[in-house]
Amino acid sequence: MNWMLDPVSILRNIIPIRSQNGIDTEVEMAKAISFILVKLGFNISTKTYAPNRPNLLCHLSFQNSGPALLFNTHMDTKPAIENEAQKNIWQTNPFVPHKHMDCIFGLGACDAKGSISSLLAAITAFLKTPYNKNGSITLHFVSDEEATSQFGTVALCKNEKIDADFAIVLEPTNNKVSNAQLGNMIFCTKFYGIGGHTGKPKGKTNAFRLAFSFIHLIDKWAKQKSVTSDTFQQPFMNVAKFDGGSSCGTIPDFCKLYWSIRILPNANIREYQKELSKIENNFNNRLSGNVKCITHPIGTGGIDSCICHHEFLDILCDLTQKNPIIYSGSTDAAFIRNFLTIPACVFGPGSLEKAHTPNESVPIIQLFEAKDILFKFLCRILTSNNN
Ligand SMILES: [Zn+2]
Repeated sequence: MNWMLDPVSILRNIIPIRSQNGIDTEVEMAKAISFILVKLGFNISTKTYAPNRPNLLCHLSFQNSGPALLFNTHMDTKPAIENEAQKNIWQTNPFVPHKHMDCIFGLGACDAKGSISSLLAAITAFLKTPYNKNGSITLHFVSDEEATSQFGTVALCKNEKIDADFAIVLEPTNNKVSNAQLGNMIFCTKFYGIGGHTGKPKGKTNAFRLAFSFIHLIDKWAKQKSVTSDTFQQPFMNVAKFDGGSSCGTIPDFCKLYWSIRILPNANIREYQKELSKIENNFNNRLSGNVKCITHPIGTGGIDSCICHHEFLDILCDLTQKNPIIYSGSTDAAFIRNFLTIPACVFGPGSLEKAHTPNESVPIIQLFEAKDILFKFLCRILTSNNN
């Protein structure tokens, strides 16, 4: 078989190309993908919004007018080893693809180099069909998704206004279609207490204990909203990082808490912000003097949730023969929805459970299944043939 029709061959070729966010760049990945897309006749332009952080904007129009499809996926991966605790947990070299138990192991195997492979194989197969093709295909292969997407999809969507009827963002969903995804809000709260010697605790307010009480209130709020299933329990408050304190003999007078909360698809940032500031106001009203807390959003404050409705989404769901799911992470789909106003869903081989972990892997059967579904989707939407 032509290796470009085989997602496993493509994946084996791109796992060794290092593209760890924060360590490497996406330059070599962009070259490898361009190599394939040039052969397929795509028009490729490279858009760069930070040094050595390329984004590929690729386009192919067919003779007859018809639907415009956009596919978006990311070339970067998380670092193979992120902290001390992860050392020696990789059982094989993360940059050498390894087949075991009918899965391909390696960094990015599931997030998102598996998706890239299935997509490229599906497009190759589609272009080889003899059918008359209509409309167009646009592809985003982006940088920086594993950080904040600011040099990737965010910049690309803000600077390159493209029009499309429907977008598929490729991320691991076990080949189910996600028609809704959670948003995420990120905060830093500063707690001002009254510090001093631990021998004289009277009249003091430990800033960390203030933070614990605050966390308790947010937990309570999140629990009231909580939607739970076997695989899903959101929103919940992630206590991500504490800064502050000095020595064991001193009651801390100040600390910073970094935290986040996911937004359910039927809610939005503004609504949550309103409710959270109410909690903070009530919390502060019970305190006196200079004892208080102040919350600021970090950076842009996060990313909104998004829901997708479109006839093409129903067709994609039919092809998977599975019900759509809520994606429990945030993806670039929200940026495509917000900046380009294109309905966007999420779909791809591999499981989110395997993403961002040592010994990342993707089942081979899912790589072929994703290729097959995407191939049939392209045939269904961009040809008059009903295969
Ligand atoms: Zn990803």
